[in-house]
Amino acid sequence: MEARLDDPVRYLKGVGPRRAATLDKLGIATAEDLLLHAPRQYFDRSRIVAIRQLAPDREACIRVQLETLHSGRSWRGRQRVSATVADDSGRLRVTWYSGWVRDVLQPGQRLVLAGRVVANRGRLEMRQPEFERDDTETQELLHAERIVPFYPLTRGISQKWLRALVYRTLQSHAHLIGEILPPAIAAQYPERAAAVRALHFPACSEDAACALERLKFEELFLLQVVLARRRWRARSGQSGIQMRVDSGLHEDYLHALPFALTRAQRSVLDEIVADMTSERCMQRLLQGDVGSGKTVVAVAALLLAVGNRTQGVLMAPTEALALQHAERLLPACTRLGVRFDVLVGSRTETDKERLRARLRSGDLDLVVGTHALIQESVAWSRLGLAVVDEQHRFGVAQRARLQRATREGSGPRPHVLVLSATPIPRTLALTLFGDLDVSRLEEKPPGRQPVRTHLVPPERRARMLEFVRQQTLEGRQAFMVLPLIEESDKIELRAATAEYERLRSGALAGVRMGLLHGRLRPAEKETLLRSFHTGALQLLVSTTVVEVGLDVAGANLMIIHHPERFGLSQLHQLRGRVGRAGGAAWCLLLVERRTTSEALERLRQFADTDDGFAIAELDLRLRGPGDFVGTRQHGLPTLRFADLSHDRALLERARDLAFALVRADPELLRGENAGVRRVLETRYQERETLAETG
Ligand code: ADP
Ligand code: MG
Repeated sequence: MEARLDDPVRYLKGVGPRRAATLDKLGIATAEDLLLHAPRQYFDRSRIVAIRQLAPDREACIRVQLETLHSGRSWRGRQRVSATVADDSGRLRVTWYSGWVRDVLQPGQRLVLAGRVVANRGRLEMRQPEFERDDTETQELLHAERIVPFYPLTRGISQKWLRALVYRTLQSHAHLIGEILPPAIAAQYPERAAAVRALHFPACSEDAACALERLKFEELFLLQVVLARRRWRARSGQSGIQMRVDSGLHEDYLHALPFALTRAQRSVLDEIVADMTSERCMQRLLQGDVGSGKTVVAVAALLLAVGNRTQGVLMAPTEALALQHAERLLPACTRLGVRFDVLVGSRTETDKERLRARLRSGDLDLVVGTHALIQESVAWSRLGLAVVDEQHRFGVAQRARLQRATREGSGPRPHVLVLSATPIPRTLALTLFGDLDVSRLEEKPPGRQPVRTHLVPPERRARMLEFVRQQTLEGRQAFMVLPLIEESDKIELRAATAEYERLRSGALAGVRMGLLHGRLRPAEKETLLRSFHTGALQLLVSTTVVEVGLDVAGANLMIIHHPERFGLSQLHQLRGRVGRAGGAAWCLLLVERRTTSEALERLRQFADTDDGFAIAELDLRLRGPGDFVGTRQHGLPTLRFADLSHDRALLERARDLAFALVRADPELLRGENAGVRRVLETRYQERETLAETG
C-alpha cells in the first residue's frame, strides 16, 4: 500500500494497537505526527572512544566485542546482568539492572555501547548503557556514532524503540513531506523534508538548531496567516456601521463625570472614535491594569453607538460584574434618556424573554449582561458596538463565536472592543489577539499610590490581624482570599470555613465579616457582595477570586492566603482591587513555612514591582504560556515547536511576513501560496472561509 502522511501509526511496522494507544498519549496519531514529534534534547554520541581513554563520570560511546555475560542479583536483590567487553585498547565491565538484556545479547557479538562511566572501587565500569548491534556493513547505527535524539516519552515505550520507529518512518514517509512556505521565504531555510530529518537525526548540532528554527518559524507563520486573514475578513466585505460624532451623547456623559479623562484615556478614546467613524469595522483590544479607567472609555464608546441610533452591549464574565457595571451605568443612562437593561441568569425567564423582545424590536439602546447569555440568545435590531469586558478568558475561538452571533441577519457588522484587565505579554497578545488592533492604557488616573505589598510569615500573622482590626475600626474594608485548589473540594472548603470561624470568634471578633464561596447560590452571593459594597460588611473572606473583581471604593486591604497558588498576573489583578479611592493600601501575602524558596523569590519580585506589563513578562518567563491566566483553556493554540516565552523575535518576524503575505494575496490564490492554503484548509479548519473562493 502506498504510504501517506496521515497513515495511522497503528499500521506502521512494529506498532500494534497497544503501542498505538500509548503513542496517542503523546499526541501521535499519524505518521506525520510522529515525524513532527520533537526531541526534548540530543546527546552527542558521534565520537567513539577507546576503552583506555574512558574517564569516570562522563557519558561515552564505545565499539566493542562482548566477551562474557552473567546474570545475578545485586546485594539489594535487584536483577543484574554483568558483562565484560573489550576493544583493541582494553577491557571494561558493564552492568545492566534488567534481566531481559540477558536474552538478547550473546558473547561474541560486536556492539556499540553508549552510557555513563563510573568508578567502582577504583575500576571503571559502564552502567545501564544503551546498546546496539554493530552491523555497520549492512546499515547505519541509530543509537550511537551520531547525535542521538531523546524524545518526550510516556510509560510503555522506550527511547530506543521510539527512535527506531521514527527512523523507519523517516525512510518510508519523509519523501512525502512537501514544502509549505512560499518559495521566497522557504529559500531562507533548509528544505522542509530535510529539516524534519535533521530534527531527529542531525549531522551536527547547528543542523538540529537550524531545523528546529525552521519548524518553529513555520508554525508561528501559519498561525499568523490565520490571524492576518481573520483580521482582513473582519475589515473587508461587509463594512462596519459608519458613525458620526454629532449627537454628542458620549461627550455629555464625559462632561458629567466628576473627573476629566487622563491624556491616555483621551487618546485611546480618539483611536476608538476614529475606528467607529471610518468605514471599517473596529476590532480593537484595550489593555490596561485594573483601575486604569478602561470602563469609562468603553462606556463613552457605547454611548457614541447609541447616539447613532444603534444598540450597544457590554458583556462581563460573571453575573456579579455585570450587575456592578449596570449599577454604575444606570444613573447616567437615566439622565441621558438612554433605554437600558440588564440580562443576567438570575432574572426570571419571563423577564429575560421580554428583554430579548425589546432588543429585537429596537426598543432598548443599551444592555449589560454576561458573555454566555448574550452570545447564546440575542437577536439584535441593530447592534452597533459590542464591548467585551475582562476577557482574559476570551480567546480567538470565543471571539469568532461572538462575531458569528453578532453578525446574524444581513445588517452591517458591529464594531467590537475587547477590554483586558490583564496586561498580556506581547508574544501572547500577538497570538491570542493577533487579529485585533491594540490600545494600551499605561498611565493610571491621578492620585493613586501603589499598593504596598508585603510577605507575611507565620510569626507575624497575629500582628497583621491586629492591623486588619485597626483598619476596619477606622472605617476601611478588607478582602481576604482563601484559594481552593478545586472549588468542588469539600475538605478544602471546610478548611476555609474553619479559618473563617476561627477569625470571627478569635482575632477578628467584632469585625463584621462574610464568607463568599462557589457553592453559594447566586442570590446569596449577590446579597453578600451588596453588603460589602454598602459597607455593612468590613471584611469579605472569599474562596473564589472572580467575584473579587469588584470595585469597592473603600477597600484598602487585600490579604491573600497561599499566594504561591496564583500566577503573578493574577496576584497583580487581585492587588489592583484595593486602594481605588486613593489613600494608602496594602496587599499582604501570607506565606507558610513550607513555601519553597523559589516561590518566595517570585513573590518578592512581585512585591517589588507595580508595573503590570513587567509582571506579565516575568510570569510568562517563570511559568510558561500554558499557565498564563488560563490561556490553555481559552484558545491559545497548541504549539509543537515554538515557545512563546522565548521565541519572541521569531514570532515578530513570522508575523511581519504573514501579514505581508495576506496583504498581497488575502485569499491565498497565488501559486506560491498553495502550500499555505492547503495547510490552512486541513489543519486550521479554515476550509469554510477559503472554500468560497476555491
Ligand atoms: P478599569 O475598567 O480599567 O478597571 P474603571 O474605568 O472602572 O477602570 O475606573 C476605575 C476607577 O477610576 C473608577 O472608580 C473610575 O470612576 C475612576 N476613574 C476612571 N478614570 C478616571 C480619571 N480620569 N480620573 C479619576 N478617576 C478616574
Ligand atoms: Mg473594569
